[in-house]
Amino acid sequence: MGDPKGFLSYGRGGPRRRPIELRVLDWREVYEAFPEDDLRQQAARCMDCGIPFCHEGCPLGNLIPEWNDLVMRGRMAEAAEALHATNNFPELTGRLCPAPCEGSCVLGINSDPVSIKQVELEIAESATLRPLPSGRGSGKQVAVVGSGPAGLAAAQQLARAGHHVVVFERAERPGGLLRYGIPEFKLEKSVLDRRLAQLRKEGVEFRVATAVGESCTEVPGSAAPTAQVLPAERVAADFDAIVLAGGATVSRDLAVPGRSLAGVHSAMEYLRGSNLACEGSIEAPPISARGRHVVIIGGGDTGADCLGTVHRQGAASVHQLEIMPPLPGERGADNPWPTWPLIMRTSSAHEEGGERVFAVATTVLRGDPAGRVRALVCQSVQQPGFAPLPGSERELACELVLLAMGFTGCERGGAVAELALALDARGNVARDDHFMTSRDGVFVCGDMGRGQSLIVWAIAEGRSAAAAVDTYLMGRSDLPAPITPRQLALR
Ligand SMILES: Cc1cc2nc3c(=O)[nH]c(=O)nc-3n(C[C@H](O)[C@H](O)[C@H](O)COP(=O)(O)OP(=O)(O)OC[C@H]3O[C@@H](n4cnc5c(N)ncnc54)[C@H](O)[C@@H]3O)c2cc1C
Ligand code: SF4
Repeated sequence: MGDPKGFLSYGRGGPRRRPIELRVLDWREVYEAFPEDDLRQQAARCMDCGIPFCHEGCPLGNLIPEWNDLVMRGRMAEAAEALHATNNFPELTGRLCPAPCEGSCVLGINSDPVSIKQVELEIAESATLRPLPSGRGSGKQVAVVGSGPAGLAAAQQLARAGHHVVVFERAERPGGLLRYGIPEFKLEKSVLDRRLAQLRKEGVEFRVATAVGESCTEVPGSAAPTAQVLPAERVAADFDAIVLAGGATVSRDLAVPGRSLAGVHSAMEYLRGSNLACEGSIEAPPISARGRHVVIIGGGDTGADCLGTVHRQGAASVHQLEIMPPLPGERGADNPWPTWPLIMRTSSAHEEGGERVFAVATTVLRGDPAGRVRALVCQSVQQPGFAPLPGSERELACELVLLAMGFTGCERGGAVAELALALDARGNVARDDHFMTSRDGVFVCGDMGRGQSLIVWAIAEGRSAAAAVDTYLMGRSDLPAPITPRQLALR
């Protein structure tokens, strides 16, 4: 460790967000560049604590103190090597991870934690993405179904181990939620395309607009209009192993009168259309907030992504409703270090405008004579049990309502039904301790096996499932397995 007093000399820092009035006029990423000298100071705050709890906080087990030290010394190429040893896609986690590692940083006990995620991003951006083809063929064929972060991580690991990997994706392009969920202002898709080019050069074959399973397009709009359907049994017959990585795509619905009115949409219907328009696949988004009064139901990250999109489309007004009360500004006594801090966070989208309303539940959606939504009625609720507060009813005029209340799990038709896969108690695809489903040779990883989660967990799942598949095919594996199927976040 080069600077034993770095954490005393420098405060926590990070890049500035671009000015609000400018950034809402375009779709480019929100953050400005971070100067190299500032980065080295931030890395120097890592205090060589001896027992780095950040390793436990990060599901990938990223070697955080090692690369902080290398960055502080300006040895970026070695830092990039250390980072890629545990993380296939640090340019994604560096931008999008909520950074549970920082909640576990030892410096965070009585000070601000190290800006680990920012250091990770800058290392990732400094690296040249060279393809690392395996150079030897195992003769085995693996089908990966779904091209989100879990499927991509599994595909890259398996290709590097020498297997021929084909990724099936029913959408127009690969990427899963990275492409059609997360908006451009959080992740410019050129970043994703750069990584996909590396996978292709390593031998991964992508078959897009190809759905595995007859009825798997039960979620409206999630497949390319031209998608062809391959029976799951045919894929099982043609490949030595299958990795299912289809995500947790079934969104939680709102059971209130008026749900079927025109102008009420799931967050993914809305975000998918906006992302398709951003990438130029369609001329204009099929659902637009332009000039409309908008209500977003759901105060989480998906709701915040809708909020930032609504701002950029030029809405007349926007409210974001959350059924839970606001979180405190600091950790509570029941939420100690090194667990994930349950504190109020303000995303870039919140900073850009809109009104956040907490502890409210929607009771009814009202329509006009043409059947379009015109107002939302909500009521304050109190804990425990979300009991309605008498006399607290209010009406919000709106022409667009976006439902962002989370996801209930994977689609149960399609490949899951055709391969007769067992589900677990939470409705995810059940798996054993080696990521194998109830059917021999069929594995599951990512949100499809874990339930709605995070990109860092999806990558960790993809890496671990790849190690399990490699062992299944070859009798042994040198691939790393950072997590087990039942491993949970520190809490
Ligand atoms: C709007 C939104 C924003 C988010 N933002 C963040 C964030 O900022 N940070 C973070 O850490 N996490 C975020 N998440 C969560 C994160 O995106 C997911 O946890 C992660 O993408 C899960 O990865 P996955 O590979 O399991 O599945 P997905 O990314 O959902 O990918 C699954 C893919 O499988 C395809 N597929 C499904 N079935 C079939 C089939 N039968 N045949 C062919 N293809 C199929 C789907 O089309 C899809 O492309 C966000 C989630 C949403 C919805
Ligand atoms: S992947 Fe997430 S948890 Fe892991 S080091 Fe990066 S920011 Fe932290």
